[in-house]
Amino acid sequence: MSRVFNFSAGPAALPLEVLNVIRDDIPDWQGTGMSVMEVSHRSKEFVALAARAEANLRSLLSISDDYAVLFTQGGATMQFAMAPLNLTNEGATVDYVQTGSWSKKAAGEAAKFCAVNIVADSSDENFTHIPDEATWRRSDDAAYLHFTLNETISGVEFHFVPSGDALLVADMSSTILSRPIDVSRYGVIYAGAQKNIGPAGLTVVIVRKDLLERARPRIPHLMMWKAYADSDSMTNTPPTFAWYVADQVFQYLLRLGGIEVMAEINQRKARKLYSAIDASGFYDNTVREDCRSWMNVPFVLADATLDAKFLEQAGAAGFAGLKGHRSVGGMRASIYNAVPEEAVDALIEFMHEFERRNG
Ligand SMILES: *Cc1c(COP(=O)(O)O)cnc(C)c1O
Repeated sequence: MSRVFNFSAGPAALPLEVLNVIRDDIPDWQGTGMSVMEVSHRSKEFVALAARAEANLRSLLSISDDYAVLFTQGGATMQFAMAPLNLTNEGATVDYVQTGSWSKKAAGEAAKFCAVNIVADSSDENFTHIPDEATWRRSDDAAYLHFTLNETISGVEFHFVPSGDALLVADMSSTILSRPIDVSRYGVIYAGAQKNIGPAGLTVVIVRKDLLERARPRIPHLMMWKAYADSDSMTNTPPTFAWYVADQVFQYLLRLGGIEVMAEINQRKARKLYSAIDASGFYDNTVREDCRSWMNVPFVLADATLDAKFLEQAGAAGFAGLKGHRSVGGMRASIYNAVPEEAVDALIEFMHEFERRNG
C-alpha cells in the first residue's frame, strides 16, 4: 500500500485510522453480517449510529439544546437556497458579505428568493481580504446576515465574528471542526461534509430551534429544515455510508482530544506553511495576513511558467491535489484536519528543494 500526501480541496483527505476502521467494518458491520451500506436506515444499529454521530458533534462543538443538528443532502450549495427559503418571506431583504467565490454563489442563489444587499465585496481585489467591518453597508431590516467563514478557493478566513445582533447565517464548509466556534453567536451554520467531516453526499446544518418556524409554507418537503428536525434527519433515505464515516471521524476527533487540540495542530501547520512562503521570494501568498485561512493556502510561483513543472514534480514526489482552483491559478495546499503535520513538513521541504533547483 502506498498513500500520498493529499492536499485536495474537497473531496479531501480522511484520517488513515478512520479508513482502516472502515475497511475492517465493511464485510460485517457490528455483527449484522452486512456492510453498513446494506443495512436499513431504520435498523436499530443505524438509528444508534445516527444518534451517536449527533451527540458527538454536539460535544465537539458544544452545541446546546437550543439548536437542532440536521444531516441533509445536496451539499452546501443546496443550503444557499434553503437558507432564504427557510428564513424569509418573499419581499424580505437579506445581507451578504461577499468575500470570495462561495459567498458570491450563495448571494446569487438567495437573490432568486429575496432582495440581496451586498454589504461588502472584495472582488475588485481578487478576494484577497475581508473588507473592514466599519465599511460594511448593512441594511436596517435584513432578515439575516450571511457570510462564508472560510473561502476555500482564495484562502480567506474570518478570524472574527461580525458584530451586532443580526441573525448570523454562516457557511462553514471548509472550516468546521478546525478550531473552536461559539455556536450561540449564530442562527444557522451549515457545512458540506467533504472538506473536514467525511465523504461527499452529507451536509451538516446546525439551526437554532426557534428559526424552524420561519419557513415559507410552499417549499419542497426536502428543502424544509423542520422536516429534518422532526424526523431525526430520516426524512427520506439518508446517505447512510457518508453518515457512518462522519460518525467515525467525530469519534476519531474526540479520541485525539477534541477541537482545541485540533486547532493547535492546525494553527501550527498553517503558520509553518505561511512562514515558508513569506520567507521566500520564489513563492507568494497574496492574502492579507489577518485573514489568511488555516485550511486552504493558495500560493503562486514568482515565475508562473514553472507551475506545470512544480505540479509534475510534486506529483512524482507523492503530493496530490496541489493544483490551484482554475479561477485563481497557481497552487493551493488544503491542510484540513486529516492532513497530518508531517505532510506539511514534507511539502515545505519539497518547496525548498524545488526553489533550490529552479530559483
Ligand atoms: C465546497 C464548498 C461549497 C460547495 O459545496 P457543495 O457540497 O459542492 O455544494 C460551498 N461553500 C464552501 C465554503 C465550500 O468550501
